[in-house]
Amino acid sequence: MQKVNVEEQLAHLIKLQALDRRLYSLRRDRQAKPKLIEDLERRRNEEQAAVKAIEEKIKASQLKRKQRELDLQSKEDGIKKLQTQLYQLKTNKEYLTMQQEISGQKADDSRIEDEILVLMEEADNLNKDLGKEKALFADAEKHLNEDKKKIEVEIASLDGEISTLDAQRKEITALVDVKVLAHYEKVLTGRDGVALAAVKGKSCQGCFMNLPPQVINEIKMKDKMITCDSCARILYIENEEDA
Ligand SMILES: [Zn+2]
Repeated sequence: MQKVNVEEQLAHLIKLQALDRRLYSLRRDRQAKPKLIEDLERRRNEEQAAVKAIEEKIKASQLKRKQRELDLQSKEDGIKKLQTQLYQLKTNKEYLTMQQEISGQKADDSRIEDEILVLMEEADNLNKDLGKEKALFADAEKHLNEDKKKIEVEIASLDGEISTLDAQRKEITALVDVKVLAHYEKVLTGRDGVALAAVKGKSCQGCFMNLPPQVINEIKMKDKMITCDSCARILYIENEEDA
């Protein structure tokens, strides 16, 4: 790196790194927000679909019941017809055959009645499920409406804070040497928002690798920018005694 006023540049970079830490954290929060809204919307849509599915089951069950009631009606009409015919029969054999036919029809009748009872019970259960599901849907919708607004307010506030910090960042970066800044930015992106590392206990506080005494001496000399061999972060000494 070219000859720069190391002490001055480091002072700018320390300020810049503090800003960037905050910016990285704000941007992470900001990026997570849309997913929160999506989750709320997905939950609402799932509950809505569940309500619709139960309503359709109820419709199908009602249709089946109506059909069974019609079947029952026509069976009963048929039985009545057979019963009036009973009186017109001439022989005992015909009479017995007809009576068997009637009792067969009556057995069918009571089977249909049982089916109708089962369908009525099913309808009761489905209506209970529908009530529960509608409550879940209402809750999901309430959450969506209320939380979405809150999240949108948070997004606006994060965006505001980010743009304020971005403006401050521009003022500081204008003071940093172009090559130093290029290195800083490259490490910043590659190392998740931390491009500057203090030296403590003879180690780089960015990657915690031990630094050779020569490197520490070079940092103290403040003759040029020194970077960590293992993580490429720009090194500085915060407190000579701790270094
Ligand atoms: Zn390091």
